[in-house]
Amino acid sequence: MNNRTCVICKKKAQTISLCRFVLLDEEIVFDLKHKIHSYGYYFCKDSFDCLNRLPKWATKKKKLRYIKSDFEGNNDNGS
Ligand SMILES: [Zn+2]
Repeated sequence: MNNRTCVICKKKAQTISLCRFVLLDEEIVFDLKHKIHSYGYYFCKDSFDCLNRLPKWATKKKKLRYIKSDFEGNNDNGS
């Protein structure tokens, strides 16, 4: 069983009914051949709703990451 969870609707499904994508820089890259060695996310391949909500999700995700790295930078005592 190769089940993954859709990041949008949180539904569990087999990888063949999901689409893999990665976040590279500011872009959503669809990893159709499962070849990109980066952390992969999944969403429902057949759902327009999940696809439409993807950009918003990615923006939110990026913001979280940005805040985190900013916080780490503040721990630096190099003044
Ligand atoms: Zn979904």
